[in-house]
Amino acid sequence: QLAAEPARNARIVAIINQKGGVGKSTTAINLSASLGVLGKKVLLVDLDPQGNSSSGLGIEKSRVENCIYNVLLDDVALSDVIIADVCNGVDVAPATINLAGAEVELVSEIARENRLKDALKSARGTYDYVFVDCPPSLGLLTVNALVAADSLLIPIQCEFYALEGVTKLIDSMKRVKSRLNPSLDIFGVLLTMYDGRTTLARQVADEVRSFFGETVFDTLIPRTVKLSEAPSFGLPITEYDPSGKGALAYGALAKEVVQRG
Ligand code: ADP
Repeated sequence: QLAAEPARNARIVAIINQKGGVGKSTTAINLSASLGVLGKKVLLVDLDPQGNSSSGLGIEKSRVENCIYNVLLDDVALSDVIIADVCNGVDVAPATINLAGAEVELVSEIARENRLKDALKSARGTYDYVFVDCPPSLGLLTVNALVAADSLLIPIQCEFYALEGVTKLIDSMKRVKSRLNPSLDIFGVLLTMYDGRTTLARQVADEVRSFFGETVFDTLIPRTVKLSEAPSFGLPITEYDPSGKGALAYGALAKEVVQRG
């Protein structure tokens, strides 16, 4: 007989930035895995049609029958698409390229902004954290994430134009907050691909800290080739290079996330 599981109350966090290539999927994968290592129960919802956080955890998209698309548009239950214990105890609701059509197909649907929120209701009691890896746009899929989430994790790449587009993102957040999700707030801002040897990276980090203040995580994610190699092996950094600086950084981030509650 199974021991009774403690009741959980998941925090739903959207990993969001409409810029591509800033480290959303890398963070979704490796923060989830690192929280898994800490014994937390995590669901990673891949809401990006490219499906990088699904394939980065070794899920073969060609073998996925139903994905998050079918949950949003075909009333398939979330539990029917979840792949359990993909790595470090992390469960994944995968994306396939079918999801690319959702952006257009959702437009004519009833309660189109609430589809993900409704689907995730059943997951609250099962997980400690639900992360939603958002697509690089501010379309209806992202709006679904903004409506479903309790809070946002915003990765910002330590490069030129780091804050470009951030105002637009904050505007979208405010619009959704005032009309559809009043308690939405920022969980944390994460500096990614940080190379402390460059003046630029240090300047960007300072600029982001003065813009966002205390919400910026103390942990900086360093630029390291291991983090970019791991997805091609379908492994999180906790498995691919467990003692390297990428794994240490995401491990430190996981602890900060737990501390923030
Ligand atoms: P997004 O999901 O925002 O599009 P990704 O997480 O896919 O961004 O990252 C973009 C690219 O940068 C990927 O090739 C990824 O492997 C690489 N990358 C992400 N974070 C790091 C890092 N800290 N160090 C080195 N490469 C990284």
